[in-house]
Amino acid sequence: YPELKRDSRFQSLNDKHVDYFRTVLGENSVVYDKDPESDTILQYNTDWFNLYRGTSRQVRKFKKERQNTNMANDSNLTPVLLAWLAVVPQGGNTGVSGGAVPVFDEIIIKMSRMDRIRKLDQVSGVAVVDAGVILENLDKAVSEYGYMVPLDLGAKGSCHIGGNISTNAGGLRYVRYGSLHGNVLGLEVVLPDGTVLENLSTLRKDNTGYDLKQLFIGSEGTLGIVTGVSIMTPQRAKATNLSLIGLDSYEDIQKAFVRAKADLSDILSAFEFWDKDSVEVVSEKMLPGVQFPLSSEKPYEFYALLETQGSRKEHDEEKLERYLESLLEDNIAKDGVVSQDMKQTQNLWAWREMIPEGMTKYGPAITYDVSLDIPLLYKLVEKTREHFEKKGMIGPDKDYVKLIGFGHVGDGNLHIMAATNRNDYNLQKQLDNFIYTWTAKHSGSVSAEHGIGISKIGYLPYSKKKPVLDLMAKLKAQIDPRGIMNPYKIFGSVPGQD
Ligand code: FAD
Repeated sequence: YPELKRDSRFQSLNDKHVDYFRTVLGENSVVYDKDPESDTILQYNTDWFNLYRGTSRQVRKFKKERQNTNMANDSNLTPVLLAWLAVVPQGGNTGVSGGAVPVFDEIIIKMSRMDRIRKLDQVSGVAVVDAGVILENLDKAVSEYGYMVPLDLGAKGSCHIGGNISTNAGGLRYVRYGSLHGNVLGLEVVLPDGTVLENLSTLRKDNTGYDLKQLFIGSEGTLGIVTGVSIMTPQRAKATNLSLIGLDSYEDIQKAFVRAKADLSDILSAFEFWDKDSVEVVSEKMLPGVQFPLSSEKPYEFYALLETQGSRKEHDEEKLERYLESLLEDNIAKDGVVSQDMKQTQNLWAWREMIPEGMTKYGPAITYDVSLDIPLLYKLVEKTREHFEKKGMIGPDKDYVKLIGFGHVGDGNLHIMAATNRNDYNLQKQLDNFIYTWTAKHSGSVSAEHGIGISKIGYLPYSKKKPVLDLMAKLKAQIDPRGIMNPYKIFGSVPGQD
């Protein structure tokens, strides 16, 4: 991070600290190694995409036994937060903006042992859970009572609900179930001064003053540690149907989306798209030898995956089939398939969900997640490609080995990913500058769902005006005057740092 320097006011971890934490927390709750690159600690210092690496020497894990008592009231959490020791909350460490790994030697607070489902109201579907519950486990737990988590994403087997809230994750079903800002009813948060903000409301309506939980949703661990979550879970759909279609242009993707809204309306639960290079990624790196479900002599330029969730399987399937037929008749789609069983459904989803991981197998992979007006989404990929092809930088043996585009059409959310042939900060900067300048020029947002973290430091003003940024900085300084909560992230500096 050439533009960042360590805030010298933060203490460096010493043996006394380590002994203290071991005494109050127990041996097993503290992972410590003088070498931040050692096997024991490197996994916590490195992000999922292997782009960002910190030099922390300590990871604190909460003790399982303590989960029977209310963890958030555990006063042992307080000393870390009270001292001038900077901390980074870490959930499943699947974040894409480098927010969950230290920049320098901040202590990592790992949330994975806080994984208790505290209660589930079977009438309202409101679940109250620890922040370290893995998203997929939460979904399984509520499914027993006929509910589902209103959020689904490729990293569901690893990411935590606390991490989802801290990044305000969007995911695959946003088009149907909306944002966590709407679905989260209450949070329990430990503030940097040790205060426990116990605000785990299970009420759907509550207009008593400022809605403070909203501040923490998407705050990326910079204001406090989320320890508990109260979330509304909708009725689990009795029937899920899925269709994959092949199309020749991004224009056709938009036509198919407009028609899906009209024809499938309230049962439409996901509308994803990806380009033909994304298919190549999955077939080369993730599913070699597996036949792509739509086999034509020549790949189509684009693919879209549509999911419906409703109450009557045959009825929804019929609707989806009729929709697909109309696309084929009007020459909007060139080919399509409707999934016949669970196995086929999982197989179709795999071609979408494996794209990001597949990209990491070519080399260090950089991800963008911009919001733009829907007609502009793929234009950005074309413009980026054009720009860097002219410079001779895209191709199998070049700087950017692969450049692809995919995303959540219904939410106006595009992911561009570039796999590079080496870990080079300048390669990322060149792409950042081009993509964020173009996005800002077209009134988009530099982050639709992944957050700012460390990867977008400096680009916040591309999406937010100065008075907004000033108020954000004031709030941060008020809640965390020493700046110990996930320092450098979002703002790039710590309040009071020279
Ligand atoms: P982490 O990566 O551990 O942390 C993310 C941020 O939240 C960090 O700033 C961290 O400090 C903070 N944090 C974590 N836990 C807490 C806590 N308890 N209290 C306070 N702060 C905390 N994202 C999407 O939005 N949509 C997608 O469709 C999507 N698909 C993905 C697919 C794949 C294959 C992968 C690898 C990632 C994907 N992501 C997606 C990104 C990522 O999964 C989400 O951002 C997720 O919400 C991160 O959760 P986590 O538990 O891994 O958080």
